[in-house]
Amino acid sequence: DLAAAEAAVVEELRSADKLLLTTHENPDGDALGSLLGMHRVLRALGKDVVMYLSPKEFPLPSEYRHLDFTGILGEPPADVDERVIVFLDCGNIDRMPVAFLRDGGRHIVNVDHHHDNTRFGAFNLVDPVASSTAEIVYRLARALGVEITAEIAEPLYTGIVTDTGRFMYENATPSAHRVAADLIEAGVEPYEVYRKVYENVPLARLRLLERAIANLERFDDGLLTVSRLTRADFERAGAGEADSEGIVEKLRAVEGTAVAALVREQLTDGRRGQYKVSLRAATRDVDVSEIARALGGGGHRQAAGFTTDLPYEQLIERVRSAVAAQLSRAN
Ligand code: 5GP
Ligand code: MN
Ligand code: MN
Repeated sequence: DLAAAEAAVVEELRSADKLLLTTHENPDGDALGSLLGMHRVLRALGKDVVMYLSPKEFPLPSEYRHLDFTGILGEPPADVDERVIVFLDCGNIDRMPVAFLRDGGRHIVNVDHHHDNTRFGAFNLVDPVASSTAEIVYRLARALGVEITAEIAEPLYTGIVTDTGRFMYENATPSAHRVAADLIEAGVEPYEVYRKVYENVPLARLRLLERAIANLERFDDGLLTVSRLTRADFERAGAGEADSEGIVEKLRAVEGTAVAALVREQLTDGRRGQYKVSLRAATRDVDVSEIARALGGGGHRQAAGFTTDLPYEQLIERVRSAVAAQLSRAN
């Protein structure tokens, strides 16, 4: 059960001397916030701990530039074999593109909140009720007896704010609010975080949103709202992969939408799949993680994703029929 899993992870973290922390590819606010927060917690315990992200993640998404990423590695350290590997916010080890971290035989600690987490670790602390991985890291910090300083609180708060859609999604639980309140007491200034994360928007991002709106299509009387961004769209906007963050939420907000999908052509050759697809549900009658899983991905009921080599038309047909099947099952 959860309490036993937490106790086991606390024990494992306490006894480890050398650790490496990492997260999923295309890291979001919770991925980066829980990574940095955990790093600072373990540093406070005097651990030899490093953070690793693959070099393709740099530069990091502009909304997280205010966080201090000093010391993050883009290359595996030589002593990786001696380190306990801690995955944060990663529901599926396939979301870690780096083979040396996926290989068996190592101690993997898996700390996450995805209900479809594949439990790939030797230790798995998976709490699907937690708003965010950052909230779980907060609990671990408390269990480890680490004082929540402002340096620990800021990345954790950023993770909670971004994963709860600024405390507006279904995961904005009383617990998420209580932890956020503690983090504010520890020194976080919500307005400052808001300004840094949600304002200072690069103009290229607005230009990319313009492309997405221009390419918007609706299916089945608008139940499915879709947009597609090709490489040419990214080029025209002067935008990078991370600049599409937030667009699919805008599609979901369109009146009459049950499911929104944003289909992005991958900008880097040699990656898994030609398209990266983000799905969002606007109703409890649909579980988009089920649709994503059937296409090789996963996620949460309300927010999921996958990558695919299916041609665009086929992939839209697959999503359309899956949405129709779920809606008819629900009604
Ligand atoms: P996003 O659409 O913002 O990239 O991702 C939304 C959610 O879907 C994330 O919380 C993430 O867990 C999940 N997700 C996105 N892409 C993938 C994927 O390729 N595989 C899996 N397993 N989950 C994904
Ligand atoms: Mn995430
Ligand atoms: Mn998360």
